[in-house]
Amino acid sequence: MRVFVNEQPIDVPRGASVRDAVAVADSALARLLEEAHAYVTDAMGRTLDAADAVGEAGAVLRVVVSARRETAPRLTRDALRRWPKAELHVHLDGALRPATMLELGRDAGIRLPADTPEALAKAMLVRDARNLEEYLQIYDVTLSVLQSAAALERVAYEFVLDVAAENVRYVEVRYSPLLHRPALTLSQAIEAPLAGIRRGAAETGIKVGLIVCAIRTRPPAESLELAHAAADYLASGVLGFDLAGAERGHPAAEHRAAFEYAAAHGMACTCHAGEGDGPHSIHQALHEVGAQRIGHGTRLGEDPGLLEEVIARRIPLEMCLSSNVHTHAVASVAEHPFKRYLQQGVVVTLNTDGRLTDGITLTDEYFLAHTALGLSPAELARVVLNTCESAFLPEFEKVALVSRVQSELEALR
Ligand SMILES: [Zn+2]
Repeated sequence: MRVFVNEQPIDVPRGASVRDAVAVADSALARLLEEAHAYVTDAMGRTLDAADAVGEAGAVLRVVVSARRETAPRLTRDALRRWPKAELHVHLDGALRPATMLELGRDAGIRLPADTPEALAKAMLVRDARNLEEYLQIYDVTLSVLQSAAALERVAYEFVLDVAAENVRYVEVRYSPLLHRPALTLSQAIEAPLAGIRRGAAETGIKVGLIVCAIRTRPPAESLELAHAAADYLASGVLGFDLAGAERGHPAAEHRAAFEYAAAHGMACTCHAGEGDGPHSIHQALHEVGAQRIGHGTRLGEDPGLLEEVIARRIPLEMCLSSNVHTHAVASVAEHPFKRYLQQGVVVTLNTDGRLTDGITLTDEYFLAHTALGLSPAELARVVLNTCESAFLPEFEKVALVSRVQSELEALR
């Protein structure tokens, strides 16, 4: 079958690997790939493993020669899948299984943009949004099939199985109960995913916490209402309070009362900021609503004083590489400040944001940080531990998580 390597058409047998295709196209490039001085991406810019199958006829491969050879990739995607990992920033309503979405759509009589899991997965990928606001529109589709307690329970359960399968030991998953009204009350919309999480956690043995999100574009009174409702579930798995949604023109400070209530009632607070707007938004998250972590914080570096403060106060950033490319928070992965912040001493953590809507797993994001940004195995391990250390867990549980993951990492490396 015919595929393309750096725009050159070549013929390979069905089932050929990326390595085979590059070897047919150019033996010098193949050598660089074997010596880990080059890596390969698909048409969407997603990094591929040399051993991955080329895929269908017409597949497009790009071989990228690493600019800095000392940081060339050495870990495979498979090795990173085996690493113990943690995740703090992932949206439940952006992480559904396509096959489940189709079933839920059928049950609820909702027409989805495609009718096979493969086509739906493609349709749900947001790669060409001009900004955060446009990217968020795809959530209308996932939310349309999540307007029942049974649906929320199921996707939360499946989510836990999916992350456990790639060796995530601890995850905090978020969503907004406000977006399931009027079908459900806030209490029902919180109890349903908690039940799914309990079922998944019991089966897999991983630890899972829930973060509820207020929405920037909705009335502040609703945010406060959500904080009130969520406070009843502290003992059952709700760990944190967040503010999500279109960032520009919708300042966090408007939702201050909700954050104050959440904090006063034992919830940890995080806030999306510096993703769809500039560093002043991060400033507001830290100083006006008391966020203990920042969701993304991509544009932090534009304010050197604030960057210094974030380093000094060890405020964790919940960073997401692919998602930032898809929302145009950064122009490309290569331009993402993740590695720079890590080396400057910021407590950076690595997360998916939307497994379905960004078409990735956490393993993919670690592999991307390794191949496209050149993070060394030691730096990647630092990021895993940063993530564990930034968990919204009581101190003794955090210490146990960190030491377990650390010894697992040492045994693997
Ligand atoms: Zn997010």
